[in-house]
Amino acid sequence: MSSTKRVRVRFAPSPTGPLHMGGVRTALYNYLFARQHKGDFILRIEDTDSNRFVPGAEAYILESLRWCGITIDEGVSVGGPHAPYRQSERKEIYLKYALQLVASSNAYYAFDTPEELNAIRSEAEAAGRTFSYNYEVREKLPTSLSLPAEEVQKRIDRGDQWVIRFKTPENEEIHMHDLIRGDVTVNTSTLDDKVLYKSADALPTYHLANIVDDHLMEITHVIRGEEWLPSLPLHYMLYRALGWSDSQPEFAHLPLLLKPTGKGKLSKRDGDKMGFPVFPLQWTSSDGEQSRGYREDGYFPEAFINMLALLGWNPGTDQEIFSMDELIKAFSLERVSKSGARFNPEKAHWFNAQYLRTKSDKELAELFLPTLKEKGIEVPISKVEQVVALIKERAAFVKELWDLSWFMFQAPETYDTKSVTKFWKGENPARIAALREVLAGIDDFSKEHAEKVVFDWIVKNEYPMGQVMNTFRIAIVGAGSGPSIMDICAIIGKEETLRRIDNALLRLNRNETAE
Ligand code: GLU
Repeated sequence: MSSTKRVRVRFAPSPTGPLHMGGVRTALYNYLFARQHKGDFILRIEDTDSNRFVPGAEAYILESLRWCGITIDEGVSVGGPHAPYRQSERKEIYLKYALQLVASSNAYYAFDTPEELNAIRSEAEAAGRTFSYNYEVREKLPTSLSLPAEEVQKRIDRGDQWVIRFKTPENEEIHMHDLIRGDVTVNTSTLDDKVLYKSADALPTYHLANIVDDHLMEITHVIRGEEWLPSLPLHYMLYRALGWSDSQPEFAHLPLLLKPTGKGKLSKRDGDKMGFPVFPLQWTSSDGEQSRGYREDGYFPEAFINMLALLGWNPGTDQEIFSMDELIKAFSLERVSKSGARFNPEKAHWFNAQYLRTKSDKELAELFLPTLKEKGIEVPISKVEQVVALIKERAAFVKELWDLSWFMFQAPETYDTKSVTKFWKGENPARIAALREVLAGIDDFSKEHAEKVVFDWIVKNEYPMGQVMNTFRIAIVGAGSGPSIMDICAIIGKEETLRRIDNALLRLNRNETAE
C-alpha cells in the first residue's frame, strides 16, 4: 500500500444477532484508526448467509454504534460513493468475479449435493479419517476438473445446483503479514477448497463477497477479530488470483476477549452466570429470550467505550481514563496485544464510577430526576443538585443514587435494629432531646454554622462526639450510614430535622425498630 493513500477501513458485521461487545471493540478500533488518520470509517453489512439472517440485527448494530458515539462516514444508513453497502443488495456484482476465477483456473465448479458430501464425510469418519475438500479429492469428485467440459455445461444448463470452489494450490507457502502478529506463513496443503459462490441462492459466500467489496470499496486496512486469521491465506490467494495483490489492504487481527476467569472466549453464558452484559444494548431474541445490555444496565457510553478500548490495547502509560478524542490521538495498532484480553466486570464497574464522578451536579440531577418523579417526589432541581454533589463519590450508577440518598427526600419509617441497639441507650436519647433544643435555637441552618453550634455544644458538655453524632444519625436517617449528618440536616432543613428527631424520640423511646 502506498503511504499517500487515504486510509479507508470498514466494519463489516453480519446481521446474525445482537452485536457482541467484541464486535463493538472491532468497530471502535476501526473507528479510532480511521479518525486518527483522517480517513473513512465504512459500515458494510455482510448478509449473504441467508440462513443466519436475524431480523432486527442490522437496526441493533446501527443503534449500538450510535449509542457508542461511533459515527459512520460511509455505508449502510448514510450512503456513499460505493453504495449499496448491504451485500444482499450487491448480489449481481459477485458472479462475474467467481466466473473470472473459474476462467483463470483459480476456481472450479463442484456439483456434489450436500447429501453426497455428508455421505462422503461420514464414510471418512467411519474409517477414522477426516474429509477435506482439497487437491487430493477434487479431481475424483463431480467437478469441472474431473468432468468433460460438455458435461459441465450440460449440468449447468439443465439447472443442476453447483457451487464454485477456490482451487487452492498444493504445497505452496503463503507468506502473510499481520500488523499485530507480524509475519505468518501457512502451507496451502493444510487448507481446503472453500466455496466462493452458490447457485442455489445466487449468492457469494463471505470470502468472495468480502474480498470483492474490500477491493471495490478501496479499503486500505482490514482490522477484524482473530477468528478470521485462518481465512487470511485464502484472502491473500484471492487477491492474487483476481490480480489485485498490488492494492491489497493491510491486515490486523485483534485478540479475543476472554472470560473473566478460566479458559476460553467471553460468552453470553459467562455474563448470565456472573451478572454482567456482553452486549451493548438489551436484546430480545425471536423466542423471547432477553439479554441484558450495557445501556440498560446503566452504563454511560463513554465509560463502556473507555473500558473496551483498553481490552486488548494499552497506551504504554498509566493513563486509564480516555475520552474518545484522547483515544483517537493515542490509539495505535502496534500497541494492540497478540494475546487474548481478559474481561474484568469489576473494572467495567469502576470505569462507570469514574465517569459518574466527572458528571456535573446538574447533569446528574437531571439523570436522577425521573427516579424521583417515579417515587412521587417533587423537589426543585437545585435540591437534587445539592444531594448528588454529596453522594456521587459513592455511586457507580445513576440507579444507585436513590439508595444512597432517599433520606434526603423522605423521613425514615423504620430504624435499623443494630444501630439502635448500639447507640440508642444510656444517656444518648436524653442528649438527643437536648440537642433538639439546641438545633431549634439556630437561625442560620447552613451546614457550616449549624455544625459549629452542634460541635461546640457537644464539646462544652464533654459528651462523647461519636456517641452523640451516631445517635443523631439514627434519628435523621434511620440507619448508621450516609454522608455527613450535618450535610443532610442542611439539605432537609431545620423543620424537617426537628420533626425527625421528635419522631425518633417518640418511637425509639417506645422501643420501635425496623425488625
Ligand atoms: N462479516 C464478518 C463478520 O461478521 C466480517 C469479517 C471481516 O471483517 O472480514 O465478522
